[in-house]
Amino acid sequence: MSHYIGRFAPSPTGPLHAGSLVAALASWLDAKAHQGTWFIRIEDVDYIRCKTEFTEIILSQLLTLGLHSDLPICYQSQRSKAYQNALDCLIQQGWAYPCGCTRKFMQNTPTGIYPGTCRHGLNGLLARNWRVSTGLNHKPIAIQWDDRNLGAQTQNITQEVGDFVLRRADGPWAYQLAVVVDDAAQGVTHIVRGEDLADNTSRQWHLQNLLGFPHPEYLHTPLVWAEDGQKLSKQTGAKPLDITQPIACLNAAIDVLNLPQPSTEHIPTWLHQATGIWAEKFKLKPR
Ligand code: GLU
Repeated sequence: MSHYIGRFAPSPTGPLHAGSLVAALASWLDAKAHQGTWFIRIEDVDYIRCKTEFTEIILSQLLTLGLHSDLPICYQSQRSKAYQNALDCLIQQGWAYPCGCTRKFMQNTPTGIYPGTCRHGLNGLLARNWRVSTGLNHKPIAIQWDDRNLGAQTQNITQEVGDFVLRRADGPWAYQLAVVVDDAAQGVTHIVRGEDLADNTSRQWHLQNLLGFPHPEYLHTPLVWAEDGQKLSKQTGAKPLDITQPIACLNAAIDVLNLPQPSTEHIPTWLHQATGIWAEKFKLKPR
């Protein structure tokens, strides 16, 4: 019996669309093909952009598609204490610091990469953000990780990313911190999500190193492109799934994953066949 915990972690800033379903389906299939546990985490830390009505729509879309959470659904909006503990731990270790630099200052930075100005003190500025250092004592940090789909990845976070934000002062927690704290607390062993999130992985890996958390396995799934060549996303006006046609939605998603469509209109059978197809692709023992 494998020890596998996977998750789908949508941000409720809109209903699921064809692109987000690919990540939902792939994460579910990977968990089931490993005989593992799959759960849904609602990433509603950004209380300005996230809406309860979208959470309800997303959960009902997933239910209609037969993608049921094996564990109670969790909500990042209820996890502030855990994020604060992690931030405190980073502050104590000297890795996190308050930053008073303004948005305007950032716009005038030629590379767009934060130069670490407040690392050694606020110099009378008012704290606006909490940041994590990506290069203590001037030593650059290169993060290396393997993606099950994209292969070996490497990123020098000191030069390519810079000290990134963990929390806007008195504002929402940053995705990078919340996701790392939750994945560790919830024992997530495998992360399957869209390729648009792949370049966040090294930042998350860095935080896992600093907080002493294990590194999950990563697999980033192909994106869906709109006709104008843009990535399909809520920002580019992606249409919600037409959930009156669940099998058509699932077939479209499995096409993007480059896998053959199951030959049935019955959702549980479709998912069962698709799990076998996924297990075959990754040479896993099917359930
Ligand atoms: N909440 C993120 C999103 O909706 C996904 C986070 C993740 O899977 O790591 O894009």
